[in-house]
Amino acid sequence: MEIISAICEVHPQLRIANLYIRLSSPNTTLNAASVVDNSICLEDGANARMLLEFPVSIKLLDNYKFKPVIDGDYIHLRMPIGVPKGMKSGSENVEVLDLSALSTNTYKSQGKIFCPIIGKEYRLQCAECQSVLVDRVHFKRVLPLPRASWSEAASDWYCHLHAGEASHQKLVPRTTDCLYGSCYHALTASLLTKGSLESTGKESLCSKCQSSVGLMGDDLWNVWCHSIKWSVLEDNNQWKVAQDAATPLQAFYLTLYDALEEEKSFFGRKLAFRDGLGGGQNVLLWFVGDNGFTLDSGESVGGTELQLRRSGLHKVLYKSENSISKKIPSDVSEYQVSREMMESALAVLRNSSNQLPIGCRTAAGFSVGFLSLAS
Ligand SMILES: [Zn+2]
Ligand SMILES: [Zn+2]
Repeated sequence: MEIISAICEVHPQLRIANLYIRLSSPNTTLNAASVVDNSICLEDGANARMLLEFPVSIKLLDNYKFKPVIDGDYIHLRMPIGVPKGMKSGSENVEVLDLSALSTNTYKSQGKIFCPIIGKEYRLQCAECQSVLVDRVHFKRVLPLPRASWSEAASDWYCHLHAGEASHQKLVPRTTDCLYGSCYHALTASLLTKGSLESTGKESLCSKCQSSVGLMGDDLWNVWCHSIKWSVLEDNNQWKVAQDAATPLQAFYLTLYDALEEEKSFFGRKLAFRDGLGGGQNVLLWFVGDNGFTLDSGESVGGTELQLRRSGLHKVLYKSENSISKKIPSDVSEYQVSREMMESALAVLRNSSNQLPIGCRTAAGFSVGFLSLAS
């Protein structure tokens, strides 16, 4: 028998850690488990040993023995942190973690969308088929769009300096403006190479390969950063790739980081990612828990000796809904993303849920999953 994966959420403020171990076969009989050399040692009925090693920064109490509870092919251990000696705990509880060794994780952003350099000449190509969508454009202004409320921002973009002034006039984007959100660029539609794009409703498709590249507004073409690549014209008159297309998942994370940067703490934050096509598809993300951290066994393929490492995984509650009519509550920040971004994020979330026993995968009508917020 082998350990396929292990994930441990540590919550210093709640004085609890949950350790979930996924086994290669269900309903195994286990002998008593013990803590040896900062590892949890499991032994099956045939006396085969499996070791789960904790990083040195997390101190386990040596020689502790306990009886693990098996749920299908998972073991779930609730580990109280620093329970005073002699205090009774339930049979599933294991007093193995030393609170004094724990410190909390800090979150830092992992990147930003590409910004062209003012004055340089650029070419934009479809990431799928290399068809040239915008040829030889240079920008005089490269400006961020206001965060959130994306659709309003794109159609009603205005100068921040003079917002609210009586003399304020709505600024019409110029062909030399490059506006950008967290996962898309907004350019004037007149820059497009003739015949390079087709529109079906709001969606704009590459004429050559029919892949979805963005959304067409009244004056602005909004192009997802995972749909195009940027090349820059060098001094020797040769085009050089300045920015390759992101993957839809990278584009989702850019949006997520941008959303989380709006406030110091992301716990308690509620985010809604909405299909930019207005199809009513939403992914809701709730950040829950205290400022704890997670250990996990990483991308390893399993085995009888696994190491837990500090990871950037954070627990989230998530839900995918198709609801055109349902209003998003006011405490939820909304972000427009592409269908591909939504699907790739959901695939990661669903996959991460499988690290938990079936009984631990839902809470309050949401699914429980993990997203990586640091590398
Ligand atoms: Zn194409
Ligand atoms: Zn103004």
